[in-house]
Order: sequence, then structure tokens, then C-alpha cells
Amino acid sequence: MIVVMSAAGTEAQRNAVIARLVDLGLRGQEIVGESRTVIAVLGNVYPELRDELGTMDGVDEVLRVSKPYKLASREVQQDDTVVRLPHGVAVGGGRPVVMAGPCSIESESQLWEAARGVRDGGAHILRGGAFKPRSSPYSFQGMGVPGLQLLRRAGDEFGMPVISELLSVRDVAAVAQYSDVLQIGARNMQNFVLLEEAGKTGKPVMLKRGLAGTIEEWLLAAEYILNQGNPNVILCERGIRTFETATRNTLDLNAIALVRRLSHLPVISDPSHGTGKWYLVKPMSMASLAVGADGLMIEVHPSPDHALSDGAQSLTPANFAALMRAGAALGAALGRPFADMPQRVA
Ligand code: PEP
Ligand code: MN
Repeated sequence: MIVVMSAAGTEAQRNAVIARLVDLGLRGQEIVGESRTVIAVLGNVYPELRDELGTMDGVDEVLRVSKPYKLASREVQQDDTVVRLPHGVAVGGGRPVVMAGPCSIESESQLWEAARGVRDGGAHILRGGAFKPRSSPYSFQGMGVPGLQLLRRAGDEFGMPVISELLSVRDVAAVAQYSDVLQIGARNMQNFVLLEEAGKTGKPVMLKRGLAGTIEEWLLAAEYILNQGNPNVILCERGIRTFETATRNTLDLNAIALVRRLSHLPVISDPSHGTGKWYLVKPMSMASLAVGADGLMIEVHPSPDHALSDGAQSLTPANFAALMRAGAALGAALGRPFADMPQRVA
């Protein structure tokens, strides 16, 4: 349920609505939009509440939200969410951003070469995994905290915000200390305790879609983060499991276009994990931008054939630069050019 306040509604009237909700054992969250201010009613609502709230001063109308997710829904917030990061980088709101870097942080020299390559190629955000969710316990598990420290230094040196995966509640403090965005990986999309802990940090969170997550389950997972009072949520489509085995996953372009309609949250496309094949990354990046993705996440390794994880889907810096040139041309044609480059000083 949402309470739409009249354009002339006062702060006192909004506070009275929120206080009334608290008295009823519910919670109200104010969402200030360009054209209207609404109060989202959170908790177990009942039909009579609509009339009870509708008679309060300053209330224009009370509407039922038809979707099970509330804070993530466009019914509740019409304007796009824009997640603001250091170096003046904004995710959402029109101009696509590109996150790029290695699947795993492997060493200082590997990360520096990758960071230089993606920065020169036009990336806005540097990615790199320090805690890796590997299918086999015998595969490289990531460098852990020393890897995060390298990522932070590389981001500062090359002038880019950084993103890294938060794999477990065990690591919340460390990842929140060193990374500008906390990535929740596909395997953790429904780890609700982890989502709540990530939300509580107040840091931007990028929530990847689960391997078998429906769009509704994905948006409900986002709701767990938003419900902690953290509005800085970015979604990421990274491919789902289907009967098809010719590609690693099936990048769901429907989901990108549909989620842009259902939700105000920015949606990033990850064609690296979505395809598993480096030569499909550029075409599926172009397709993602064409259907309205708010950005891309691209795995880049200075020497993909030596990568400790996901080499087959990683681009060389030269191939990444070619992708960015194609994306710039497409962006110009679509009227949605890439965001400006990050500013050097935060
Ligand atoms: C990654 O980004 O390297 C990763 C592990 O992604 P996903 O959770 O989508 O598999
Ligand atoms: Mn990877």
C-alpha cells in the first residue's frame, strides 16, 4: 500500500501518517519523487487501512501495490534510482556505466595491468573478486583480504570506484571497508541473512540474479536490502540455467527490459557469465545496451589463457577496448551514450 501525499502536504502531515503507522505496528518509508511524495506502508497491511489513512490531513489517495515487492516497485517510486559512487560515477538514470576487471584478483601485477587496460578502454568502475564462489573446493578460492586491499589501491591509483563480491556474513566488515560496492553473487541471491547484513552497511549493493531465480524472486531479494533503509541497490542479470548447454548460461534479455519496467532500480548486464564465451561478450553487450541496460559488467584479464578463474569468458584489454568503441557508436545511435569518465578526485 502507498499513501500519496497531496502536492501541498506538509512535513507535519507526513510525520503524522508515519506515526499512525507505527502505532498500528507498521512502518512508513517516505519516497520523495520529482512529481509526488509517497509513503510506502511496510508490514502486514489490511484492507480497512486504506480508508483509515485516506481521511488523514494532507493525504491525496491511498493505493494498493499489486506486486509482492514494494520498495523495489515502480508503483511505489516512479523515478529511476540513481546510485552515486565516488569519482562522480552514477549508476542508473540514463547513461550506461561499465564495470570491468578480472574475475579474480590474482596478484598486484595482474590487477594493475587489468586496471590500466580497462581504464584506458573507458571503464567507469573496476571489478575484481577476492572471495570466489567456486564449484569445486579445490579451485582457487581468491586472495581474501589482501586481494581487497590491492583492489582498493588500484581503484585509488587509477581513479575508479571498485566493486567486489561479498560471499559470506563472515566478510561483511572487510568488504565494506575496502569496496565501494558490495556484490552479492548469483549463488547468494536468496541468502536473506547476507542480504540484510549487506543492506545494513548502507553501502551500495549490486545484487546478481540467481542461477534459477525468477524475476519476482530477484526483486523480492532486492526488497530485503531496501527494507534495511538502504536505497542504493543495483540489479545485475548474469544469465540463468536453461536446457541449453552450448553456452554457460542463457543471458535473459527479456529480464533486463522487463525489470526496467517493473522496478526503478538500475539493471546491469553481465554477458561474461551470461555466455561463458569471450567471443559472445561483445555481441551480447550490444544487445544488452539496446534493450535498455543501465550498464555492463565485463571480465577482463591481461592474459585470459593464464587466468585462475573464468579465462574462457575474459576479454583481453584490446578486445575490451573494441567492445567500448562499438558500445560508444551504439550509444550515440540510441541517444544513450556511456556516462562521462570518472573524475580523478573523489
Ligand atoms: C563473478 O562476478 O565473478 C561471479 C562469481 O559472478 P556470479 O555470481 O554471477 O556467478
Ligand atoms: Mn567470474
